[in-house]
Amino acid sequence: MNRMHLLGVFVLLLASVGTVTGDIRLGNEVTPFYQSINLKIDPSGDGYDGSTRISVEVREEVDSFSLHADGIEVSKVRLGLGGTAIPVSYSIENDILTIVSGQNLLPEKYSLVIDFSNEFNTQAVGLYRMESDGVGYAYSQFEATDARKAFPCFDEPSFKIPFQLNITAREEDEVVSNTPVRSEFRWDGWKTVEFAVTRPLPTYLLAIAVGPMDSIEIPNLPVPGRVYTVKGMSGLAAYAAGMVAPMLEAQQAYFAMAYPYEKLDLIAIPEYWPGAMEHPGAITFKDSIILFDSANTSAGQRRQAAQVISHELAHQWFGNLVTMEWWDDLWLNESFGDWMGDKVTTELYPESKHELLELRRINDVMTSDSRVTSEPIHKPGSTSSEMFQSVGLVYNKGKAVIGMFERWMGEETFRIGVNAYLRDNAWGNAQAKDFWKALTDAAGADVASSMETFLEQPGVPLVEVSIEEAGVRIRQQRFSNYGTTLDEQTWRIPIGLRIGGEGKVIKKTVLLTESEMLVEIEGLETIDWVMPDADGAGYYRWSVGDELIAAIAPGADKILNERERVSFLGNLGALLNAGAIRGDSYMQALGAFATDPEPYVVSAVISELDGVRDTFVTESLTDEFANYLQKTLSPAIEHFGINARPGEDEAVAGSRPRLLYWLGVIAEDETVVSWASEAVTSYTHDPSSIDPELAGVAVKIKAKNGDEALFDQFIAAFEAADSPVARGIYLGALGAFEDPVIRKKALAYTLEGPIRSNETFRISNEIRTTSIGVELVFDWALSNYDVISTRIPPIWLPFMPMVGNGCDQDRMERAKVFFANPEVKVDGTDTQMAKVEASVMDCVGLRAREGGKVKFYLQGF
Ligand SMILES: [Zn+2]
Repeated sequence: MNRMHLLGVFVLLLASVGTVTGDIRLGNEVTPFYQSINLKIDPSGDGYDGSTRISVEVREEVDSFSLHADGIEVSKVRLGLGGTAIPVSYSIENDILTIVSGQNLLPEKYSLVIDFSNEFNTQAVGLYRMESDGVGYAYSQFEATDARKAFPCFDEPSFKIPFQLNITAREEDEVVSNTPVRSEFRWDGWKTVEFAVTRPLPTYLLAIAVGPMDSIEIPNLPVPGRVYTVKGMSGLAAYAAGMVAPMLEAQQAYFAMAYPYEKLDLIAIPEYWPGAMEHPGAITFKDSIILFDSANTSAGQRRQAAQVISHELAHQWFGNLVTMEWWDDLWLNESFGDWMGDKVTTELYPESKHELLELRRINDVMTSDSRVTSEPIHKPGSTSSEMFQSVGLVYNKGKAVIGMFERWMGEETFRIGVNAYLRDNAWGNAQAKDFWKALTDAAGADVASSMETFLEQPGVPLVEVSIEEAGVRIRQQRFSNYGTTLDEQTWRIPIGLRIGGEGKVIKKTVLLTESEMLVEIEGLETIDWVMPDADGAGYYRWSVGDELIAAIAPGADKILNERERVSFLGNLGALLNAGAIRGDSYMQALGAFATDPEPYVVSAVISELDGVRDTFVTESLTDEFANYLQKTLSPAIEHFGINARPGEDEAVAGSRPRLLYWLGVIAEDETVVSWASEAVTSYTHDPSSIDPELAGVAVKIKAKNGDEALFDQFIAAFEAADSPVARGIYLGALGAFEDPVIRKKALAYTLEGPIRSNETFRISNEIRTTSIGVELVFDWALSNYDVISTRIPPIWLPFMPMVGNGCDQDRMERAKVFFANPEVKVDGTDTQMAKVEASVMDCVGLRAREGGKVKFYLQGF
């Protein structure tokens, strides 16, 4: 599953995984080995009927056994042994269906048949219904534990069995599932579609889509494949369709194995929480990720489509062909998928400089991993909902660690290990330790015990580096923010050093296994400087002392590569949090990097400025901050240009929208504001006249000081939007008005307008980008909690305390009171509230400590 575009609940990166019910393991006395499912699905109605036949093997004598069924109306249960019916009764408690036999069941193979009916889900999980242009569609989203909401099943990843689906639908509807259609039978306006038996799959990978869909063929695939869209949208699928074959080819080459399934369809869904989901043969996507105008794409769209498609393709091997045994290894699935997605995107689209942007995500996860509330990424026995509680770590820490060890082992050795792991476990289940063993065998060295220091322990190492006569001394301790005390730990850290002196630059890699070591540098008598994170590849923070910082920062673009400059900036922010550098020195250093020739280094400066704004820029400092931004960021826009230049670098195009957003919305730069006004006019008349990402920025700049007439105009445009991209552009604009009356209207529209469940937080997230807006959204979310909580999937409820995030202790305390209420609290609420508290207190402490210096610096700028 992909977390892209789940920028979802309140700004943090989240994926949609798991459930708050269940996660009680079923045991292995009775296991399934084949399941057929019949469903009658008419998405114009409210519900559906079905029956399922599950072949089970009783392995130990029992008189009862259980499987999953959550909220399903079961009407009949039959158990048979070789044609003889065995009397049974059944009961359902929470999401567990228990079958009780009148006699002991001996170890044999039995057939269990269950008839049932159910309502369609309306929160876009399980088997759910949605509308597009007033017409109904039914789709599924089962990971982690929502297949049990659609039909009775053994809903655990280790029950990996063949499935056979038969779906009855209206004759005019398309029906898509994981495998090709084996036969189709029509009568009286209906049809029953019989799908080929699947390869062994866990329930969470089954997919169903029913409705009047359009489709186009995906060119050049080794298996049949189409992109499916809601009616009338297939014209927007061509660009993404063209990306699939080269990406599949690159992955087949990497894995040294053909694509393992019989077909490869992509399904674009308007109402969808995750970015995408890797179902074999039927990968589902949030529509805006893969549907856009081929003739008018933006750098961001292209990069995002590449990263998401390639993440999901990586899962076809890593996750689908070889599946985690239990949810505690979900992080490995997702970390590897994301790492591989980045790798293939970088390989096929090097001009996108995708890796530089991903480095910022890794920086963000290091920031949260540094807090007292952080937990290990791997905790044996964790449930899917527990894994979901640390979703940022699941995707980003894991992939950073994988990337760090790949560099250390060497690309080819690492690949050999990956291939051996896939070959040895194909079509089955495996654990992370099987993967480490394969890597260890490939390397001929103990990789596992080093990786485990990052995966079984929480937190981030701090590597301190100093120059001595005999070489470079490196020491490690646990990184902590100022004023917090964390348990001491040590890691086994692959450290890349870039060392400069005597006009030469040397790179040296070492494994730091003790608390400190001396690295001898041959061929260099005098060392001028050391960059302790060569290529920005390390999952650690570093410090070199003020003198060395001063030696590196001014000429950074000459001596450090782009990755290192991005990493340098993130590390600088961490040193500020740790109390190791002063607020004014930090501001000064950011200014030095704002004229960097690499656009994504400037983007990294903006990411740091985002933190500055949240932490230090109170209402009374708004003008001074705007002045600072204008002076600091204008050189970059002058250098890169407000308008696209023919033949410009992809990274220039990719970084421009954010630069313009900061100059236009936050600094209110006159040139940019008037550019935005013209851009909105031209976009309104002809959407293809402007890069869609720039259009998204322009409408926000214009909305900032806009009146009710403009708000109504944007509402009308939103409701008439004829593409997912246009819909997103206008929805973003609705939250960008700063007039307090309009903001209240916009929040009311969130719950009263034609907003899809997965769009619930789009407007409020935009409003939250200002400090007044944070308080407004806080009040709105708490006073409308009852409505909001019925619109979003249960798995998101634990994250609601994030409305208390920010730099205001009083608001955080009010959040604590609200979320302590047993009527509001669910599993995980306390965990998330504790994270919010740690984050707010870090921010409050930093503001108190450095706020004065930053204020003085901005006033004098
Ligand atoms: Zn994934």
